[in-house]
Order: sequence, then C-alpha cells, then structure tokens
Amino acid sequence: MNKRVTIVGSGFGGLTAGALLQKQGYNVTVLEAAVEWGGCSGKFQRKDFTFPVGATLAMGFEKNGLHKQINDYLGFKTESYPLEKVMDVRIGERIIPYHTDRDLFLKVWEKEEQKQIQSIRKFFQEVWSIGQILRRHMLQYPVFPPKSRQETFSILRGVKPNYIRLLPYIGRSLSFLVKKYNLENCKTFIHFNNGVLMDSMQTTYEDCEILMGATALDIYHHGAFYVDGGLFKVAEELVNSIKSNGGKTLKPRRVTNVNKRDSIWVVTDHRGNIFESEHVIMNVPLANLNELLTKETYEKIKPGLKTKETSLKQWGAFTMYLAIDEDIVPNNFNLFHQVMIAPNKLPSSDNHFFMSMSKKDDEFRAPKGYRTITISTHINIEEWQSIENYEKMSELIKKKVLTKLESMIPGINEEKIYTITGGPVAWERFVLRKEGGVGGFPQTRQHAIWNAVHHRTNEKGLWLCGDNIFPGAGSIGASSSGVHVARSISGKRIL
Ligand SMILES: Cc1cc2nc3c(=O)[nH]c(=O)nc-3n(C[C@H](O)[C@H](O)[C@H](O)COP(=O)(O)OP(=O)(O)OC[C@H]3O[C@@H](n4cnc5c(N)ncnc54)[C@H](O)[C@@H]3O)c2cc1C
Repeated sequence: MNKRVTIVGSGFGGLTAGALLQKQGYNVTVLEAAVEWGGCSGKFQRKDFTFPVGATLAMGFEKNGLHKQINDYLGFKTESYPLEKVMDVRIGERIIPYHTDRDLFLKVWEKEEQKQIQSIRKFFQEVWSIGQILRRHMLQYPVFPPKSRQETFSILRGVKPNYIRLLPYIGRSLSFLVKKYNLENCKTFIHFNNGVLMDSMQTTYEDCEILMGATALDIYHHGAFYVDGGLFKVAEELVNSIKSNGGKTLKPRRVTNVNKRDSIWVVTDHRGNIFESEHVIMNVPLANLNELLTKETYEKIKPGLKTKETSLKQWGAFTMYLAIDEDIVPNNFNLFHQVMIAPNKLPSSDNHFFMSMSKKDDEFRAPKGYRTITISTHINIEEWQSIENYEKMSELIKKKVLTKLESMIPGINEEKIYTITGGPVAWERFVLRKEGGVGGFPQTRQHAIWNAVHHRTNEKGLWLCGDNIFPGAGSIGASSSGVHVARSISGKRIL
C-alpha cells in the first residue's frame, strides 16, 4: 500500500522517475496536462511534419551516459546517431566546426587563432581536466546540496585523491580561467564559448559557475547525438516502459490541486478525478507550485525553494519552426548550427540563435524530400510583458533570423512551407512553463550546486524534479533529478 506514486507532469524528470520506480514495483500514475508527452523535449505536429518543440541536441547516449544507462536498465533502445561534428558555430561570416574529437577541435583553433593558440590550448586542457574529474563523480549521481546521511556518503564515496585539484576553483566563475590565460579580448574564442554556455548553462563565461561551465565545455567531447524523430522518442519510450510494467500514464490531465489528507496525498485533475498516493512527484516549474499546493504545504516547503519560485530568473525562448524542401539544403550542411549574426554584439535574442534540422530521410519528422527546422533564441521575459512589445520583438527576431537563414540556405524564404513561431505565451500555454520561463536557472554561483534546489522537500512524500531542480539545465539535468527522486523514494541505488 505504501507504493503508490502520482507524478504531475511528463517532462524528462517526471518520466525518468516514473519509469525507474514502476520498474522497482511501485504503482505509478503520470498525469500530463498537454496532448503530447515530454514537455520542453516533446513535439507537435502539422499535417505530415513533426517538430521538436525545444530540445533537439542530445547528450548522454554514449557508453556510461545517463540516457544510455536508463535505456539499458529499462530495456529499450533509442535510435541515436553520434555526431562527429556537433555543430557549426557561425560568428558573423566565420564558420567554426565544433568537433567531438579533441585533437580535431584544437586543430580548428590553430587555424582560427594562430596568435593565441598556446593560451587557447591550455585553457581547454585545464577545462577538460576539470570536466573529466567531475564526470567520473557525476556518473554516481551525487546530490547537491546533500540533505541526508546517504547523500553525504554518496558524495564522499565518489571523492578521489585527484579532487584536491578542484579546490582552487571553488566559488569561482569561468572568467577565472579566461583571465588566467589572458583570453578576455580574444573575441572569436569568447563568442564561441559564450554561445555554447548560453545553450547549455543559460549564462555566459563571466557568471557561469566554473565546475558547471567546465562540464558544459567538456560534455560534447564525450558524445553528442541526433535522435531519430527527436528527444520525444525517449519520452515515448519512458511512457511505454511505465505502461508495460503496469503503471498508468494519462493525458490530457491537468492537475489543479495537490492536497494532503492525513499521510495520503490527494491529487485532483481538471475533470475532478482524484488520485491518492503515498508519494507525489511535482515535475513542474517551481513557479507553478504556489497555485497547485495548499497554502500550508507551500509555506512549509518554501524555504527549500531558495527564492527561486519565480520564472523571471530564467530565460524565455522565442522559437521558430520551418518545413522546407530537401532540394534547397546545401551539400554537407550540418544538422546543428549555433549562430551569432553580428560578431561584435552580445549573444542577445535578436543576434544569437540555435538551429537544428532533421536528418535526410528521418521520416518521423518529415516526408521524403522534406526537412523540418527548429530554431530557438534566448529572450528576456520581462521585455515581453506588453502585447505591443511582444509583437514588435517577435517580428524583429523573425525578420533577422530569416534574413540570416537565407544566407545559410539560399532560397529558403521562397521555398519554405511552414513558418510557425512561439514566444513565452506559447510556452506557458502548451507546456505550462509559468511566464514562459524555460531551460532551468542560469548556472551561476547564485543558482548552481550548493545553491541549487533539492528534490526532497520537508513535506513527507512530496518530491520535486525537472530542470528547476539540481543539477538543472537541459534534458540530462532534468533526467538526473528524476534518478535522484527514484533513488530517494525507493532507498535503492538504482542505476
Ligand atoms: C527552446 C528550447 C531548446 C532546448 N534545447 C535543448 C537541447 O537541444 N538539448 C537539451 O538537452 N535540452 C534542451 N532544452 C532543455 C530541455 O528541453 C528541458 O530542460 C527539459 O526537457 C525539461 O524537462 P522537465 O523535466 O523540467 O519538464 P518540462 O519539460 O517542463 O515538462 C513538464 C511537463 O509537465 C506538464 N505540467 C505542468 N503543469 C502540469 C499540471 N498542473 N498538470 C499536469 N501536467 C503539468 C507540462 O505540460 C509539461 O509537459 C531546451 C529547452 C528549450 C525551451
């Protein structure tokens, strides 16, 4: 009887926790408000075309990677393809390939920045050595900040003698290393890294917590992947796993209320259905908790939220979705591009975007002879509060992106079949990200590691997961938080 678990939301965090717990013999029920599984890593459809809504670039499918471990544990396989070149980084007219192979990666920099190559080489070698030390530890799924004896023990167990090498970095941002190697004025190098950090850590090198930043600059060298169809395929596999092991997954079911009666959690959906369980996992942004929990429960857990219960500390996203004719795609065109339109400006919403294209013959996404494109930019939600500004900003970004795309894929403006756009209102409406805040909190020293929000609340049986919770940011971060919840509920070292 003490094994019932209700999960609010089917993002990567909730589905990971659900699939692992169901496999452990718990009775899991997932309630998803939207018509699709996967939240920000989900999809939507227009006629024959399928568009990933947000996440497109996948990590963690390499040997020992998080998703690979979960797939193996649950017994399913995701069709994922390792990318030799993760992406093309376009800074103005320059195109810098981002190779997964570290030697090739450094060779590119030898060509790009001959004068500074010694410093650049040393910078990356130091960053990668930090990343490698941390990676070994992260594969044990440590939880920060530790709240239980088990979590403290788990951190200590992962500590190796070479951890002493991390001590000089504690409490610093990545700018420590940029300054150490005098690279602040090496513009291409700065733009390149800032673009990568914005997409993965939601902040630039000046503010990015150094250990998280080093992990981000190391991670692609362990593998980056294209997933056939998109990351929603992983979400669907997790749903299948829950169902085939006897759990329930229901959509569209928007949860309106989460209440505690004696020691039982009572979850009510928009149709008035009631779900009772000993555990509830909230896979929703922290900003949504206030309206779902009772005042008493919310006040009780609030100190643990560390004043992060507003979406305004996260970025918003402006996204564009295009369907195009295969014929206009240039030969050897990379599937992923990080684009800085004007090289002298900051990576702001109208100057920096991430573009992903479907693979040739990925018929989950587009019929033969066609491709789909997903584009996303970071936006400051506060600037999008008035309708007037909203429309102005949408038009401005759309125009700039389409102009840049025309230079990358000549003929795209004439030939495109769809151009669909989405701003913060769409993100709130379709995946219930309050105020449109997405991607998790920027991994600055104020939000990362010791200042992150823990998956355990001080209400028995109430758990949190998703990209707002440690370790945060991205589908890997969200899934890790799901692993943490599953381990804490079951008391077992699952994976
Ligand atoms: C534009 C964009 C691009 C991105 N690109 C990448 C990328 O390339 N690679 C990468 O790894 N990551 C990427 N990310 C980040 C990644 O998509 C997210 O961090 C991750 O998917 C978040 O998972 P989550 O567990 O926090 O849940 P979410 O994705 O937030 O999903 C939560 C789910 O809960 C549901 N829900 C909310 N409230 C309720 C309720 N009351 N009742 C029932 N259901 C509810 C929502 O409908 C939603 O489906 C991107 C994100 C965005 C926005």
